[in-house]
Amino acid sequence: VREINNTIGTIYSGELLITVCRRLCCLVAQMPRIIPIEEGESDSRALVCAMEDATFALVCNESNERNLHDIGEKILDTINRPVEYDGMVLDVHGYIGMSHYPSHGTTPSELLRKALIALDVARSKDLLQLIYSNDVDPYSARSLSLAGDLKSALQVDKLELYYQPQVSLRDDEVIGVEALIRWIHPKYGFIPPDEFVLIAEQAGIIRQLTAWVLETAIAKLNVWESEGLDLNISVNLSAKNLDEHDLVDRIELLIDQYGVSSDNLSLEITETAMMADPKQALMVLNAINDAGIGLSVDDFGIGYSSLAYLKRLPVTELKIDRSFVMEMCKDTDDQVIVNTTLNMSHSLGMTVVAEGVEDRETLNTLRRLGCDIAQGYYICKPAPAPAFEQWLRKTEFSVKHKGKDQRKRDQRPPDNTATSS
Ligand code: C2E
Ligand code: CA
Ligand code: CA
Repeated sequence: VREINNTIGTIYSGELLITVCRRLCCLVAQMPRIIPIEEGESDSRALVCAMEDATFALVCNESNERNLHDIGEKILDTINRPVEYDGMVLDVHGYIGMSHYPSHGTTPSELLRKALIALDVARSKDLLQLIYSNDVDPYSARSLSLAGDLKSALQVDKLELYYQPQVSLRDDEVIGVEALIRWIHPKYGFIPPDEFVLIAEQAGIIRQLTAWVLETAIAKLNVWESEGLDLNISVNLSAKNLDEHDLVDRIELLIDQYGVSSDNLSLEITETAMMADPKQALMVLNAINDAGIGLSVDDFGIGYSSLAYLKRLPVTELKIDRSFVMEMCKDTDDQVIVNTTLNMSHSLGMTVVAEGVEDRETLNTLRRLGCDIAQGYYICKPAPAPAFEQWLRKTEFSVKHKGKDQRKRDQRPPDNTATSS
């Protein structure tokens, strides 16, 4: 809504909402499983209810998740069509959050609350639709206890940073790593990073989490630089980090403190995070760029930004989302997307990283298509520093060192270098 308000003004965005609402009402009127929210006089029934902002609710008599998903898809197909307004074509994007009776609640307010939580999570993770579950609920007992545990884990250094290599396909050389956070919970065991990063965002500790990752990565950079390695480390930022007014100052301070080169640090920001508040994002991205730190657009292809928009940002690298790369040798549509992204990014002067490279065929195809950098399980799974350093010593790829002559060069790309951690 904010984006549209800024473009066409509040009054007109109201009109746009009415258009979207009409579409929704027409569609659900034809759907057999929709239950009226209110039976009106004669045969008028209210099937859709407008909530605050641009949020609508409806009730559906369906318990099968697959069927629910199909219904959600139909609704999104209908909503997500561009609206023409005053000669402009405005894109409309909807998300769906769902909750079940009786497993998620037995009263309307409880069910609504859970559906809104699912909606919030869907939006923040850029999932088109999401059914509520305790795992995603920042207010569930598990999430609340995880948030507390995460806070202490950060204080007592109980988190770990894993590293996954990135290989330049032009010269089969390891040129950097992506730093990925890991947390083994004493009671729940391994917790997927996307899950606890979300909890950190919702519990207001993402600033501390990112600060820990940055310092750990920059300290590692210092060690590697002192060993003559010339590797780049990419650190993931969350959308919420872009609101920190002193983010770039603190990074520069760390760079100074550890005496590392800012050229060897990159920050990855998802397409969705860059779009959340474009004005704020642009300001921070410019500051990052001015500090000589690299910027990558992460998960490119699953959000809604266009290359035309990204071109206005000081980004130099684009990471094609792994969902397109993993199957690209089996799915021609995916390969077309990868190829098109490569061509367009290259003509805009951006470097392209393909992540999710799981086999040799994909690696070779990417090389043939002119992709710059590859990352994935086939090359090496994310590993703790000692295991990664061991892999570095034995890999058949060459490894980037400061000064050319120190490089270990191989003639041929390796057959299979996959290792596990
Ligand atoms: P991401 O930034 O897209 O990170 C890449 C993910 O792809 C990692 O998942 C990595 O383990 C996985 N991956 C790498 N190669 C392959 C492959 O060949 N096949 C498949 N299927 N997967 C591959 P991981 O480590 O579970 O991280 C998940 C997400 O959690 C990350 O996605 C990122 O969004 C978030 N995350 C991880 N570490 C951090 C962090 O330090 N800070 C923040 N803010 N987010 C983080
Ligand atoms: Ca990333
Ligand atoms: Ca990614």
